[in-house]
Amino acid sequence: NNQIILAERPQGMPGSDTFQFVKKDVEDVKEGQILIKTLYVSVDPYMRGRMANVESYVEPFKLGEVIGGGSIGEVIESKSDQFTEGNVVTGAFGWQEYYVAGENEVRQIDPSNAPVTTNLHILGMTGLTAYFGLLDIGTPKEGETVVISGAAGSVGSTAGQIAKIKGARVVGIAGSEEKISLLKDELNFDEGINYKTSNDIKEDLKQACPNGVDVYFDNVGGEISDTVMTQLNKYARIPACGAISAYNMEEQDIGPRVQQTLIKKSALMQGFIVGNYSERFKEGAKHLGQWLQEGKLTYRETIKEGFENIPEAFLDLFRGKNIGKLLVKVGER
Ligand code: NDP
Repeated sequence: NNQIILAERPQGMPGSDTFQFVKKDVEDVKEGQILIKTLYVSVDPYMRGRMANVESYVEPFKLGEVIGGGSIGEVIESKSDQFTEGNVVTGAFGWQEYYVAGENEVRQIDPSNAPVTTNLHILGMTGLTAYFGLLDIGTPKEGETVVISGAAGSVGSTAGQIAKIKGARVVGIAGSEEKISLLKDELNFDEGINYKTSNDIKEDLKQACPNGVDVYFDNVGGEISDTVMTQLNKYARIPACGAISAYNMEEQDIGPRVQQTLIKKSALMQGFIVGNYSERFKEGAKHLGQWLQEGKLTYRETIKEGFENIPEAFLDLFRGKNIGKLLVKVGER
């Protein structure tokens, strides 16, 4: 069983010393357990936080242990009444080719509903993050302006489309021309700003948001967010979802200048984690599934191939190489 373990806690950007490939025997399957062959592995920005030994909303990864995270696999042996061989399941078994799971550790997914990978994004964690962050905290109203950073990623592209469904004007900020075209031409965004080539992001924002910004869905933090905050309207709402621009910093970044932004504009900024909404996941997944079926919502995925490419795929998140959800395919059904 090939596994990837955390070998060393990274300082700054993770490197080749951070991860180690190891080979272990597959455990025996006991009564009430199933053996899963991994098909797809999710790589996510939050995993960077778990590589550090700091208190957070999820436990840090332990040194020498398999990197955990969302995966999809096929049951290839079952000693449980609840599963049979060939079932497709999702769970948190992470970066390994095989996993022996207890029957309550994973959830069966129906491959006839939607492509199985959607359970790792639009119908899963990142879709729910966009749904609850935008609708519960952002509360966009018809005709309001919503700005999304990290807009062509998995959470951002979903949040922007939901804001369109709610009748808002939607402006996305992302890091390549290809991403900006996707936002405008295929995902129904009204405007896009390429933060890597823009000469003046503030000026571009003013142009793209002539009526100011009512909701800022923040996936990136840092200077991009400082700039968006200069354009807030009175009573603006800011779901603070992620701060990927800071995840590899060795020193903590400084925060927003609230006097210029939050106080003057009576704006609300609220951090959240998707797990806060676990009791409402069914509601979120139902709406996301409906919109997907009705063609009101779509998604993009970037799928890399090969178990050995998981660490590089993870690093690609910080290089902006992905469009939509980044996954690694490691096995065939
Ligand atoms: P994405 O699919 O958005 O992938 C990451 C993207 O971030 C990259 O493609 C890149 O796009 C952008 N990026 C990378 N580095 C920087 C930088 N320095 N400055 C600006 N943009 C950068 O990932 P997810 O959709 O999975 O996650 C998006 C955000 O949401 C992350 O911050 C993540 O931590 C957070 N999150 C929060 C959750 C919660 O519960 N609060 C749950 C899930 C995710 P580009 O080319 O545009 O730079």
